Amino acid sequence: MVLPDIATCPDCLREVFDPTDRRYLYPFTNCTNCGPRFTIITALPYDRPNTTMSRFIRCETCRREYDDPGDRRFHAQPNACPVCGPHLALWDRTGAVLAARHEALRVAADAVRAGGILALKGLGGFHLLVDARNQDAVLRLRERKHREEKPLALMLPSLEAVGVHCHISRLEERLLFSPECPIVLLARRADRSPEPIASAVAPGNPYLGAMLPYTPLHHILLRELGFPVVATSGNLSDEPICTEEREALARLGGVADCFLVHDRAIARHVDDSVARVMVGRELILRRARGYAPLPIPLARSLPPILAVGANLKNAVAVSVGADVFVSQHVGDLETAQAFDAFRGVVAGLHRLYDLRPVAVAADAHPDYLSTRFALSAGLKVIRVQHHPPLGRAVHAHPGLGAADPGDSVRRERERPGRPDRHHVPQRPRRGNRRGRPAGRGRTRRPHGRLLSEPLSYRACRAPPAGGGLPPLLAPAHPAE
Ligand SMILES: [Zn+2]
Ligand SMILES: [Zn+2]
Repeated sequence: MVLPDIATCPDCLREVFDPTDRRYLYPFTNCTNCGPRFTIITALPYDRPNTTMSRFIRCETCRREYDDPGDRRFHAQPNACPVCGPHLALWDRTGAVLAARHEALRVAADAVRAGGILALKGLGGFHLLVDARNQDAVLRLRERKHREEKPLALMLPSLEAVGVHCHISRLEERLLFSPECPIVLLARRADRSPEPIASAVAPGNPYLGAMLPYTPLHHILLRELGFPVVATSGNLSDEPICTEEREALARLGGVADCFLVHDRAIARHVDDSVARVMVGRELILRRARGYAPLPIPLARSLPPILAVGANLKNAVAVSVGADVFVSQHVGDLETAQAFDAFRGVVAGLHRLYDLRPVAVAADAHPDYLSTRFALSAGLKVIRVQHHPPLGRAVHAHPGLGAADPGDSVRRERERPGRPDRHHVPQRPRRGNRRGRPAGRGRTRRPHGRLLSEPLSYRACRAPPAGGGLPPLLAPAHPAE
């Protein structure tokens, strides 16, 4: 089982800010309870040689922690310390080193304080950071990133800081502090705070997307800054998030003023997840860091099938026995880079689960890049309209429990944010006569039931003659 990345635990956090601890201000501190997983795994089984930590040789003290069953770091694969682990560096736009280690972080913080745009290599990719109170800096970021209107996510140093700008219910607080640590959409406070968030962050929007720091690197930087920052994906509009330093220099060189990077490679891009609370429940709007690639359990085994998703907000899934592993959010397949990222995610899932699919499930829309990919794979293709599977996915998702697939489709049409351009606009559905919100108060099916319904099962039972892995699905980098 491949686990998701987990936000820094309280024990590691205590060590990071304890001046007497050997990991004081070390940005790559982790233990068996927290730290990188999905973003560093290159193959199974999950052992250090099969991670991007393989190039770092543990020091004697880290080795003792790793071997001691009584230690919190017993068999913690990414375990590291300032002596033996990865380190930070600050680069200018040409890749020249401006500072190293903690000094790099300090100088980067100075740049943000002065209104600069910082590209920060984090857990699953780069962020672009600016002072969220600085209207000029936020506008400059929007202009350079070609992102005109969509709200920008914030990272704030503490829950108290979030509370200055937003209302937080108990459930929202739990989400903010959860091991998944997603961006949470929160209602803004009407009263103006002494240091307001720049209006360009989320123009005219009654909500703010806020998250707390989730790695020691983010914790240290936010404590150093002491104010909210915009922390948006390190990409240009419609492109996938950057994961590698040189790629970031090339793609973000026209956006960022400096680059805070490190020497632990990112095995795959994983964006920040986005969640909100609706009708007293958590609703995941973008399923990525912290959630992917946890499986959805099925009622029975399926033959191995690859599902390649739709064109917008794409994600990929594979069935392995009685589990469906859903990839991280890939994004909109509208640029060559996004399609490359999609292919990389497909190849990565094949590599991780040693998958030999007998069929590919694809959207019925003939022009989707994902559908064309499926048709050229040389396997049996199951064509489906994307609304019914969407409903089934909602059913299968723990905690959502929509009433029926049609209801899920309606929910999708009513969801906030950019509407799917293939949807016909619909009048919002009203609650029932007793005043309950739509979709509540009916019988829920067990999780995963609908994903194993006979239609898709029968359609893919017979493997194509020859079987095997088609060239298109073969790993792009088999030696990785
Ligand atoms: Zn920990
Ligand atoms: Zn060490």
